[in-house]
Amino acid sequence: MTHGRFAPSPTGDLHLGNLRTALIAWLSARHAGGAFTVRMEDLDRVTSSTALAARQLDDLAALGIDWDGEVVFQSERFDRYRAAIDRLTDLGLTYQCFCTRREILEAAQAPHGGEVTYPGTCRDLGAAQRRERTERLAPGRQPAIRLRSHGEVITFTDTVLGEVSGTVDDVVLQRNDGVPAYNLAVVVDDDAQGIDEVVRGDDLATSTPRQIHLARLLGLRVPIHAHVPLVLGGDGERLAKRHGAVTRADLAAQGIGPDALRSQLAVSIGLAEPDEPVSAAALVERFTWDRLPRSPWTAPHHPGSDGSHT
Ligand code: GLU
Repeated sequence: MTHGRFAPSPTGDLHLGNLRTALIAWLSARHAGGAFTVRMEDLDRVTSSTALAARQLDDLAALGIDWDGEVVFQSERFDRYRAAIDRLTDLGLTYQCFCTRREILEAAQAPHGGEVTYPGTCRDLGAAQRRERTERLAPGRQPAIRLRSHGEVITFTDTVLGEVSGTVDDVVLQRNDGVPAYNLAVVVDDDAQGIDEVVRGDDLATSTPRQIHLARLLGLRVPIHAHVPLVLGGDGERLAKRHGAVTRADLAAQGIGPDALRSQLAVSIGLAEPDEPVSAAALVERFTWDRLPRSPWTAPHHPGSDGSHT
C-alpha cells in the first residue's frame, strides 16, 4: 500500500508552493487508496514553533487534506537519530568536524551561493590535532559529525524527473550545536513511519542520493521519490513572501477562500479548468502524475495587503 507524507518545517506559514506540494503528495497517496502522514520537521527549535505547526495543519485541513494517525514532531525523536548516528560510527563511517562555515568556504574556495562540497579538512585528523581543535571550539559548540563517504554514485528513478544520479558527499549527520541534521532525521523517520512515497519540492532532489545512501547503510527501506517543480513568482524567482499574497491567510484577507485556493492549485497540477470549483474528493479521483506540468508553475499574482509586491 502506498504511504505518502508531507513533512514541513514549522518555521513560517506555508506558501502556495508548499501547499501545492502537500496537495500533490496527498492526492498521490489517496488516489492509490493509501495512507498519508504529516510530520513536523522541527529539528531546529530556535526557528520552529508549535503555533506555526498548528497554523500549517489548519491550512492543510482547509484545503481538504487529511492525515492518518498523530502528527509526529522530530524534536521529540532525537534519541532515534542519535542511535542511527551511533550505528554509523560503529561501522567506522563517521568523523568529527571542527570546521566553521567560514573555514569551509575558504578551503573550498566556493563561489558564494552555490552548493559547497566539504573539502575534507577534518577527515583524517590525528589525536593531537583533534585535541587541539577541541580546545579551540567556541563556547557551547561541539564538533559536528559527518559521514565518511567514498565517492559513491547513487542513481534513482524519480516519478517526475526520471533517472537522477548524484555523488554522495561527507554530509553532516549532527550539527555543531548537537542537533541531528535533516538528511539523517528524514531517512530515519521515513523508514520508522513506513513511508514508501516521498513527494517534495525539486530543490531537494540533490539531497536524495545522500539520503538513499544513508538508508542503505542503516539497513532502512528506500522510498520512491517524486520531486515536483518549484513555484515561481511573476519575476521568475522562487516564490517568497515578497511576491505578495502567498499564504492562505494572505489570500483569505483578499477574499480568496480555501475553495478558490484549491481550484487554483488544481489548475496548476492539470486537474481542473480555470475557476472550476472542485472538491478534494473529486481531485483524489482525477489525480494522475501524467497531468502534472514538468516545468515550474508561476503563481497568479495577488499583490500583498500592504501593496508591496517587489
Ligand atoms: N522539511 C523539509 C522542508 O520543509 C522537507 C523535507 C522533505 O520533504 O524531505 O523543506
